[in-house]
Amino acid sequence: QRNKEGLGELPAAFAPLNLPPPEEYFQRKVALISGITGQDGSYLTEFLLEKGYTVHGIIRRSSSFNTGRLHHLYEDQHERPNKFHLHYGDLTDSTALVFLMARILPTEVYNLGAQSHVKVSFSLAEYTADVDAIGTLRLLDAIRTCGLTKHCRFYQASTSELYGLVQEVPQSETTPFYPRSPYGVAKLYAYWITVNYREAYGMYAVNGILFNHESPRRGRTFVTRKITRAVAEIYEKKQACLWLGNLDAQRDWGHANDYIEGMWLMLQGQGLKPEEPPTDFVLATGETHPVREFVEKAFGVVGIKLAWSGSGLDEEARDVNTGKVVVKIDPQYFRPAEVELLLGNPAKAERMLGWKRKVNFEDLVKEMVEADLTAVRNFVEDQN
Ligand code: NDP
Ligand code: GDP
Repeated sequence: QRNKEGLGELPAAFAPLNLPPPEEYFQRKVALISGITGQDGSYLTEFLLEKGYTVHGIIRRSSSFNTGRLHHLYEDQHERPNKFHLHYGDLTDSTALVFLMARILPTEVYNLGAQSHVKVSFSLAEYTADVDAIGTLRLLDAIRTCGLTKHCRFYQASTSELYGLVQEVPQSETTPFYPRSPYGVAKLYAYWITVNYREAYGMYAVNGILFNHESPRRGRTFVTRKITRAVAEIYEKKQACLWLGNLDAQRDWGHANDYIEGMWLMLQGQGLKPEEPPTDFVLATGETHPVREFVEKAFGVVGIKLAWSGSGLDEEARDVNTGKVVVKIDPQYFRPAEVELLLGNPAKAERMLGWKRKVNFEDLVKEMVEADLTAVRNFVEDQN
């Protein structure tokens, strides 16, 4: 086989591995998760192990402990021998990704790994692009390099940060994107390269456009967890005041555990006719709340009622019982460009996937504050 330039014809996909046909290959249930040590990765691992999957996760070498959210799953190992495996790797290291792909031969890949903090992305813009944008390309290319385009389904952790500057409310799968941070822009590349690999190579690759989702396992520099931890510390008299940035930003906050099931459903082809290509989905609650309201509700869980005064940088909140100032503004938490309003429309996921969030806003805040109270009382310095 020679083409006009005299070079050998390349096959549509490079297929170095001797694989069984897809029907046989898919008898196995093997998941590979990037970002397994994060909030979502830990819930997804629990969910998939419960469903009988073998779960492989990519972890980064770190000088500090970064597997705290997975600790309980290690302890369960004897109940599920050989079902849960962690491997060193990094979304910046193509060779490691190809090696892991060829060794694990996953049936589902969940790309949750990311530099996921919007504010940090303004300081680490290039690194965020490398991990969140090109890292997604590297993972997709590892699948292709191993000849797994028809054998492996791919989930991309896309984000409501793609919507950025408000174009339409509520935001759905058809709302135009206008990202407002290096994080959002990097995730925009990841979104489109996922669509491109689906269209170019016929891969089963989908974007879950997830609105903010929180839990007691949320990282402590995200606003919800920062607030609930501070409420617990202030209530236990271990901290005097909580310093925050923009209290007017509004977010559509759901519970991370509800969103995990949606990710999995997207890869099962739920609601698709056999000839239909996979499609992207929004997961959201359909409600939005300002940061200020989250603060009030969180203090309310421990019986502290707030009285607000001042405005702008001088805004503050006092505990009405003690008169002490417990919330103040620190401009270091403002962003160079802000996303003011996120409100998602999950109608497509509800209709096609049968997905619906279960935990409401009040219960989410309560669960997070109570978990932090327990942690503070037990002197637990978690890694999140
Ligand atoms: P976390 O920040 O809790 O977890 C991020 C994960 O990515 C961690 O396991 C982290 O590892 C890993 N990671 C970071 N850099 C690299 C790298 N270079 N190579 C490999 N892994 C890396 O995020 P969440 O669990 O909250 O979110 C999961 C995904 O969903 C992310 O992609 C996020 O951007 C996206 N998303 C999240 C939303 C939310 O509200 N939570 C909303 C929409 C999208 P380590 O533990 O070592 O730092
Ligand atoms: P994001 O929606 O992915 O950026 O999630 P965050 O939890 O980091 O931020 C949610 C909103 O809270 C943003 O509009 C922030 O500007 C606002 N915010 C206000 N104060 C803070 C703060 O102290 N830390 C963080 N992370 N966000 C804050």
